[in-house]
Amino acid sequence: MRTGPEPNAIVAALPAVTPFVGPEALERQMGAPFHLRLGANESLFGPSPRALAAMQSAAVGGYLYNDPEGFDLRSEIARVEEVSLENVCLGAGIDDLLLLTCRAFLQPGRVAVTSLGGYPTFNYAVAGCGGSIYSVAYRSDAVDVEGLAEAAQRTGATLVYLANPDNPSGSFASRSSVEGLRSELPAGCLLILDEAYADFVPRSERPVFDPEDPQVVRMRTFSKAHGMAGLRVGYALGPSSLMGLYEKIRLHFAVNIVAQAGALASLRDPEHVARVVGQMPSIRDFLSAECRKLGLSTLPSFTNFVNVDLGSPERSLRLLQELQRRGVFVRRPFAEPLNRCIRVTLAPIPTMQAFILELEAALGALGS
Ligand SMILES: *Cc1c(COP(=O)(O)O)cnc(C)c1O
Repeated sequence: MRTGPEPNAIVAALPAVTPFVGPEALERQMGAPFHLRLGANESLFGPSPRALAAMQSAAVGGYLYNDPEGFDLRSEIARVEEVSLENVCLGAGIDDLLLLTCRAFLQPGRVAVTSLGGYPTFNYAVAGCGGSIYSVAYRSDAVDVEGLAEAAQRTGATLVYLANPDNPSGSFASRSSVEGLRSELPAGCLLILDEAYADFVPRSERPVFDPEDPQVVRMRTFSKAHGMAGLRVGYALGPSSLMGLYEKIRLHFAVNIVAQAGALASLRDPEHVARVVGQMPSIRDFLSAECRKLGLSTLPSFTNFVNVDLGSPERSLRLLQELQRRGVFVRRPFAEPLNRCIRVTLAPIPTMQAFILELEAALGALGS
């Protein structure tokens, strides 16, 4: 008999699920590739040409280890965000930083508060550390920010997670409501402000916090507006004490040399992100108008994706499957009330036109 070790009690109790099934896995199941990939809010505008050039030359130096302190990139982030170097920690995307945060603070018996049907990688990270999730339902298709504060107080939560703008709802909580949430946190509770889509809202509308506030960490990524999802780079902004904690447990070489160079070049080319972000309103209006012609409404969105309302979870699921059969990758939010929708990434107009044709045909196939 050969017997390997038992996993620890936390891991042994985990369900065998991942937060997302990737489009590649679906393609393998279907035996055919997607021809429209609008399900993961990747930027189909691509990265800045300057980031691309920087990454090509960085790849040549890839036989050397990357700078584990990511000094050049962190310095540029600190300059742009008007914080000090000690307030910045790099990670292989926000997902990496969420995992680190849960690892630093959670253990069995500790609670994390989030939105029901919110970004599932957070829940995945919480479960992996043995923490408990307490979920607050969406209200009027938006995050219930007051509900998060109330739940944090009632449960004595250690972590509160707010994505703002939010995925999958696309909603945006005002500066004053997020600052209000912060002021209502119980002592010993950390607000994780996931700002993956912050680039899509004007800076003046984002909440303002003291970078040394021990109860707030903000997270940003190059995966969305910067168009570098597969490069895996993001950062946390927070008090130097928290960055010091991350420093004790993070994987120091996680943000590779190509990603560091690309992110740095992208930050130095703000016009690229501004161009991408600037196109969102007209693309959003185009998609909404075309949907309206097909008898469908769309939800307001402050991001690079839009929810198309199918009226019921049954109908949105059938549409999702029909679109998938037609080679169109979109996603459907996981929970009520948003699971009556399909979530579509905003892309250049020709791609949106191709999507509308597929949507019309898929609706036809569903019947009424
Ligand atoms: C896309 C997304 C992320 C993923 O960020 P990475 O930096 O690619 O890990 C995190 N949070 C939200 C809310 C997202 O939609």
